[in-house]
Amino acid sequence: MKYIDEFRDVELAKKVVGRIEQLSTRPTRLMEFCGGHTVSIMRSGLRQLLPPTVEMLSGPGCPVCVTANADIDKAIALAGLPDVIVTTFGDMMKVPGSYASLQQARAAEADIRIVYSTQDALQIAKDNPSQSVIFIGIGFETTAPTIAASILQAESEKIKNYYVLCLSKLCPPIMKALLDLGELKLDGIICPGHVSVIIGSRPYAFIPRDYGVACVVSGFEPLDILMSVEMLVKQIETGKPKVEIAYRRGVNPQGNKIALELMDRVFEIGSADWRGIGVVPASGLKIKKQFERFDAEKAFAITLEPVREAKGCICGAILRGVKTPLDCKLFRKACTPEHPVGPCMVSSEGSCAAYNQYESV
Ligand code: SF4
Repeated sequence: MKYIDEFRDVELAKKVVGRIEQLSTRPTRLMEFCGGHTVSIMRSGLRQLLPPTVEMLSGPGCPVCVTANADIDKAIALAGLPDVIVTTFGDMMKVPGSYASLQQARAAEADIRIVYSTQDALQIAKDNPSQSVIFIGIGFETTAPTIAASILQAESEKIKNYYVLCLSKLCPPIMKALLDLGELKLDGIICPGHVSVIIGSRPYAFIPRDYGVACVVSGFEPLDILMSVEMLVKQIETGKPKVEIAYRRGVNPQGNKIALELMDRVFEIGSADWRGIGVVPASGLKIKKQFERFDAEKAFAITLEPVREAKGCICGAILRGVKTPLDCKLFRKACTPEHPVGPCMVSSEGSCAAYNQYESV
């Protein structure tokens, strides 16, 4: 298949579903790690198409959703400092922290601006030399290279008022943490497509080797996902778990060398705080000492109140795959896209937002 329409072809989809029905002889539990996959699955009604033997769970692969309240509180505290402009992707604005969201902080006159890229943030820094401009660096391996590139650019162009609050997270270590938790008895994982464009498929090798769990890297169209499910079911039914790529048009085993080198130049591995999972060692990126003058956490002193979690919100359990939005008592009641209680209702990749839009109750 070469064209996007072919990846949405209903007749082809029916054929793949038919093959999955024939292949699948026993209960099989798969997790789609990535929030982008969750949205595509919900939008296309794929869960309903699959045979009852195949259960699909959503995972923690939504960067906005997994950002811990403690880190949102840090961003808001930084925005409250004098002569500071905080820049962020739009998805982050409505995410509630312990006491407020960035949007509420902006209404209270903090200078917080939505940007579409680190280039926008750098431009704001150039345009406002008397102020400090901080970019809220959330995301996985997909966005980390561009954040690294922005720091290198700021250094080479001597932009002295640009900083990054580095909250970048790594996918393979959190997959390991989830498997080690043992809450889910997973048979297979649909591995993230965009992340794998950067890191390749090799970093997942430990999953079939150490946990006996099948892995397929998938694209985001309905047929990408169905073909990935078919490949996973085949691996599981034959008892031969391995790492395969169904997203050949974007992913190779070794990843993107240039992007990986950029990340390696600027970042080192450190711990990261994941909503619902907690602080996981070696699951995040920190700015290397050589570039620490761009590190907002080192450059600014902030005082933080104790972290609080929203009462009744089960985003943490949803991100671990042990609950669905339909298990939340606040879903579509106290918690709606207009008045979100937790991040999974805010983000365009959040499970609660996807269920709210596509799932009838
Ligand atoms: Fe949290 Fe709202 Fe989702 Fe419930 S519906 S888990 S309150 S985001």
